[in-house]
Amino acid sequence: MLQTAERRIMTEETILTDDRKILSGVRVIDPVNRIEGLFDVAVEGGTVASMEPASGNGSGLWLIPGVVDMHVHLRIPGGENSETLETGLKAAVAGGVTRVGMMPNTTPALDTPEAVSEVTARGNSLGLALIHPVPAVTMGRKGIECTDFEAFSSMGITCFSDDGSPVMNDSSLAEAFKRLAPLNGVVIEHPEVVELAAGGAVNLGEASNLTGAKGIPEEAEYRDVERCIRILGESGTGCRLHLTHLSSPESVRLVAQAASEGLPVTCDVTPHHIALEETELLRKGTLAKMNPPLRSEESRRKLVSMAASGMVSAVASDHAPHHRSKKDCLIQDAAFGITGLETLLPITVDKLVNGASMSLMEVVAMLTSAPASVLGITIPGITAGEPAEMVLFDPDEKWTFTDSLSLSGNSPFLNTELRGKVLSVWRGRELYREGQFV
Ligand SMILES: [Zn+2]
Repeated sequence: MLQTAERRIMTEETILTDDRKILSGVRVIDPVNRIEGLFDVAVEGGTVASMEPASGNGSGLWLIPGVVDMHVHLRIPGGENSETLETGLKAAVAGGVTRVGMMPNTTPALDTPEAVSEVTARGNSLGLALIHPVPAVTMGRKGIECTDFEAFSSMGITCFSDDGSPVMNDSSLAEAFKRLAPLNGVVIEHPEVVELAAGGAVNLGEASNLTGAKGIPEEAEYRDVERCIRILGESGTGCRLHLTHLSSPESVRLVAQAASEGLPVTCDVTPHHIALEETELLRKGTLAKMNPPLRSEESRRKLVSMAASGMVSAVASDHAPHHRSKKDCLIQDAAFGITGLETLLPITVDKLVNGASMSLMEVVAMLTSAPASVLGITIPGITAGEPAEMVLFDPDEKWTFTDSLSLSGNSPFLNTELRGKVLSVWRGRELYREGQFV
């Protein structure tokens, strides 16, 4: 195994002209085109100019498509003291994320084509990561009146969520399935039975015992997974349903069972639920508080092995920035959520490749092509002639996550050593290199 410094020297981008670079002996892992191998890749004018098979052992670095984080809270409008479009999208790029699925639980909620277009256009004009909006399923996320799916669909938006809350009313959820099925739309459900989770702050079990804060049982999650699958089945629509940030192995089992019975149901997990367990609260306090909460070590292990066996289609960060004032308080009172854009890629690779022996192709797919397919978007792979939208990643470099680019620093991974580092990110042009925007 080469040392980091040697690897870095070997892959020092050879700059042939101002605008042409060669990445020598990189491992291309491209789930879009199902290509994996060692290549010398030339990038020119924002395009992959050529890709030639490389000989030897290569540099140890990976070249993968830009990461698609399908679950991101950019907090705009209404949360400008937690995140701005610029800080959020810069944090994305630094994490190798070139596309974000923007969640609608803002103030006011993103529930009209006008509001969604305005924020999306503003974010996308920055030339950083691209925003793919996920508008609300119901007006104001109140669970009563569905939003104008047809108008959104004519804008190319097919993915909806009341995230922050479940879609409250069974009849509204059934209506969403009925109207979205012909549009090839998707409901992304934040599974939670509000009555079972009410007042809770941490996992019901060791965390609630140790902290004295009120517990949230896993049942609060999987009972809602059960409800959504039942309503989908009864609707007979064949609409797509995606269950997000699953923390309970029972939830994943229900999704896999529904899928095996032919329902188009998929799910994602977060890096924190596969990396951390509930006693992290004792070390990190409110920085380890999120909804759903960190679960027991037993559940965490099961979640990892279920992901490794193909029962989970994507990993998403659930990036949820909060102003310091919302976290500098007692666990019971603190806001739910942690930032995650900058740690999504390294933690997922470390836990699922190094920790669970998943294939590189499967893990990269969970971070790129699979979430893209839920969002209903196409992303470029890594092929000669395609626009360069990709990440140069060192899977072995160890580094300490100290300075977050997010406006909020509420990550339990801050000041922690991580394995796997983003070196360069392209989207059309090179946006980021060795810790700097270029
Ligand atoms: Zn959520």
